[in-house]
Amino acid sequence: MTALELDRWLGDVRTPRMPVLFLGHGSPMNAIEDNLFTREFRKYGQALPKPRAILCISAHWETRGTFFTAMEQPRTIHDFGGFPERLFQVKYPAPGMPELAATGAALTHGGIDTEHWGLDHGAWSVLIHLYPDANVPVVQMSLDRARTPSEHVALAKQLADLRYRGVLIVGSGNMVHNLGRVAWNRLNEVGYAYDWATEARQLLMDRILDGRLDDLAKYSTLGSAVQQAIPTPEHYLPLLYTLALRESDEDLDVFNDYAMAGSLTMTSVAMGL
Ligand code: ZN
Repeated sequence: MTALELDRWLGDVRTPRMPVLFLGHGSPMNAIEDNLFTREFRKYGQALPKPRAILCISAHWETRGTFFTAMEQPRTIHDFGGFPERLFQVKYPAPGMPELAATGAALTHGGIDTEHWGLDHGAWSVLIHLYPDANVPVVQMSLDRARTPSEHVALAKQLADLRYRGVLIVGSGNMVHNLGRVAWNRLNEVGYAYDWATEARQLLMDRILDGRLDDLAKYSTLGSAVQQAIPTPEHYLPLLYTLALRESDEDLDVFNDYAMAGSLTMTSVAMGL
């Protein structure tokens, strides 16, 4: 897509390059808790420039093909069970931005979704801390189940120009995420990790800090610890999307880099801030 075509969708607006974030979202309860992680989210929210819009790639929306939410007013989806009623009462009433959805679809040869999705908890449980007033439009982008990790990296790079049009791209997942192995009796213990989770976190973090994106896309070849840490790709892919958008002159800032419940990490990354 040329700059002129982007102008047609988003207007002839150029902005300083927006940062890119990957946020480890963890438990949906983080939406309503004041804890170590959510205080960091709020701190980053205050340091960020106010974007024109947010494009959020959440672990919790997988589809066949790539889709962008195009509602004027996306609904808040409570896509979980077994949590207190007050979590189901939470609404994140940020508006949508159909023209950004159309742009995303054009950039990626994807589609728009006007009725099925909305904002899932991967998006709103973290955005509620970054922008508590819900006054920045949000578009969600789905994860295409048919793509390989390397193909997701290539797709992410097609979004690069949006950073210069005032769009904050936020990936929301968890770097290490094996729900089947969660230590339910140590759920809230910050720093508690199984040995394989510690090993995987170190292996992945070394490659993140060295900018070895190809290795990270081939995570299934990094050994059994990483395979246990990423039994399914959906919580890891949003991290790949954001790393793929890092430009060579940009610093990388790691925060919330703690394990939880044995088999998760809350590791979060800010680039270009
Ligand atoms: Zn999740």
